[in-house]
Amino acid sequence: MILRMSNLFVRTLRDDPNDAEVPSHKLLVRAGYVRRAAPGIYTWLPLGLRVLRNVENIIREEMNAIGAQELSFPALLPREPYEASNRWTTYGNGIFRLQDRKGGDYLLGPTHEEMFTLAVKDMYSSYKDLPVWLYQIQTKYRDEARPRAGVLRGREFIMKDSYSFDTTDEGLDRSYAAHREAYVKTFDRLGFDYAIVKATSGAMGGSKSEEFLAKADVGEDTYVRCTHCDYAANVEAVAVRPPAPVPFDDVPAAHAEDTPDTPTIQTLVDHLNAEFPRDDRPWEAGDTLKNVLVVLKHPDGRREPLAIGLPGDREVDQKRLEGQLEPIEVEPMDDVEMKKHEALVKGYIGPAALGEESPSGIRFVVDPRVAEGTRWVTGANVHGSHVIDLVMGRDFTADGTIEAAEVRDGDACPNCEEGTLESARGIEMGHIFQLGRWFAEALGLQVLDENGKLVTVTMGSYGIGVTRAVAAIAEGNNDELGLCWPREISPADVHIVAAGKDGAVFDEAARIADDLSARGVTVLYDDRTGKVSPGVKFKDAELIGVPTIVTVGRGLADGNVEVRDRASDERTEVPVAEAVDRIV
Ligand code: ATP
Ligand code: MG
Ligand code: MG
Ligand code: MG
Repeated sequence: MILRMSNLFVRTLRDDPNDAEVPSHKLLVRAGYVRRAAPGIYTWLPLGLRVLRNVENIIREEMNAIGAQELSFPALLPREPYEASNRWTTYGNGIFRLQDRKGGDYLLGPTHEEMFTLAVKDMYSSYKDLPVWLYQIQTKYRDEARPRAGVLRGREFIMKDSYSFDTTDEGLDRSYAAHREAYVKTFDRLGFDYAIVKATSGAMGGSKSEEFLAKADVGEDTYVRCTHCDYAANVEAVAVRPPAPVPFDDVPAAHAEDTPDTPTIQTLVDHLNAEFPRDDRPWEAGDTLKNVLVVLKHPDGRREPLAIGLPGDREVDQKRLEGQLEPIEVEPMDDVEMKKHEALVKGYIGPAALGEESPSGIRFVVDPRVAEGTRWVTGANVHGSHVIDLVMGRDFTADGTIEAAEVRDGDACPNCEEGTLESARGIEMGHIFQLGRWFAEALGLQVLDENGKLVTVTMGSYGIGVTRAVAAIAEGNNDELGLCWPREISPADVHIVAAGKDGAVFDEAARIADDLSARGVTVLYDDRTGKVSPGVKFKDAELIGVPTIVTVGRGLADGNVEVRDRASDERTEVPVAEAVDRIV
């Protein structure tokens, strides 16, 4: 196949777009791969679409190789399934909702657990049908608070999402392991330098969870790795020993001196009872606020998200809580945003923060009931009267370890206890986790087991950001001149530059392009004539980043063409007659 620059739908730009901060964003726009249609929403131009398809196909091949089956759900989805899982509410501002002409509610799918669960429920009824692994490569919509860095964080983006369905926990383990292996192969082929890190299992519960993070300074995720063993974890998910409990009754006294107006948990409880009375009984210390974000207002007017509750509690009347509190503001939010804020807050009450100042200058005390094995902790802000108390839900594992806490570099590794932790940044490329029976229970997915008894199916969920992968690969493969694609990803295999005015140059370049194409090589041929100088053509070739650049120009008089490796810049003069063989 030959793409000709003379008619290719592309326009390269010399200057960086105003809104671009990270290299991949600048280069993908400048080299004519994508164009912005609206914030976080992008158009894929011919070169970009070729790259996107290459990435998709690698993912598709590896999913097919483990026996997963591809299907495709709509992006426009009815409200009911998301109502059944409560995500219509818990997603908060994170989803796009819309109505049809009859006033029926719809959403644009942010992720498709509900639809996959219902499809299996619809078609399967026996353990004999399972396990089954299903996937799609499909457009997702999330109204991200901060769309960022071009297609790295879009509001419309393509995700590969797969789901496994098993009857037993052991089955789920096997499904998870198979997907994990497929992900390793996929990310190796995509050419990533990546880390597999322990992750939080998400707002929907579940147990095992890992993320594949492409190592990159521009990444939004921070993870720690051990200097001694292979332990690596997103900082959201570092397991630590629980702090020694502080006697709850002592707390106000302990801090009375430096914070005379210390609000206590009771302040918040009173506030809740006054403003948001419960139907069944009064609020009391230890209750959990769910599906809400508590925003702290600093005296200087800054707003800081402080606490969230976990989703699923219908005791709190969400609607009454929306956006009206003083001094507490309560906002609904999507589960993923929640996780972030949850992590933020969890960080504050790690051992380091107990009784000490957290990074935001807020101190917490922990309810002693933690030590007695209760599920919920109540944290009280004891910093000063200008801030608020908060009540916070926390999940504790059976042995009393906390799922997340603030880590510092230099902390001892919680796994081997010999090494120390160092931190690095990464881009979340993939996320696999064992959902367990949560969705199946919510949506009633059961099958008959060997004994004719109905059992609830257990699920795994496995995502890869496809459009994000394009940006992340670009992020890891560029230099000051432009992009440098790995061959499997590149929009073409060879970029031929006809550099000269001579008819002979164009004849020879066209012949090489034809020969290569006939041998299955995809060629991007710069056949532009007229005012387009060789200098402009070289600049474009460097910017576009096809891995091999062949120049047919001055050397032709001596019977040579130049073959240049874009990434290493190694250049070789090759006799014209040998050029095609050298390249293939
Ligand atoms: P993030 O933490 O970056 O917001 P997430 O944890 O919300 O991602 P998941 O729900 O785990 O994302 O979705 C699976 C994959 O989809 C992610 O690992 C990521 O690669 C991709 N993805 C998620 N949100 C976006 C987005 N806004 N734009 C592009 N890709 C995304
Ligand atoms: Mg997210
Ligand atoms: Mg994430
Ligand atoms: Mg994730």
